[in-house]
Amino acid sequence: MSDDCPGPLARMLADHPTLYRSLLAEHQADDYGRCAGCRSATLAPRWPCGLAEAAAAARRLAEGDVEA
Ligand SMILES: [Zn+2]
Repeated sequence: MSDDCPGPLARMLADHPTLYRSLLAEHQADDYGRCAGCRSATLAPRWPCGLAEAAAAARRLAEGDVEA
């Protein structure tokens, strides 16, 4: 998936500003470059995780930051 081709999750999230904004707020990189929102007892994925990317794409779709 590339930045100029938002996936179905991003398109769905674009209709729910409260949801994608809270995802963007939670899924931030921590001091180690890993996702704080996905952190678990073991190992968090490197940031941006899939949810952070989808939420960012949703915001671009909804708020018109991108030529699509
Ligand atoms: Zn995450």
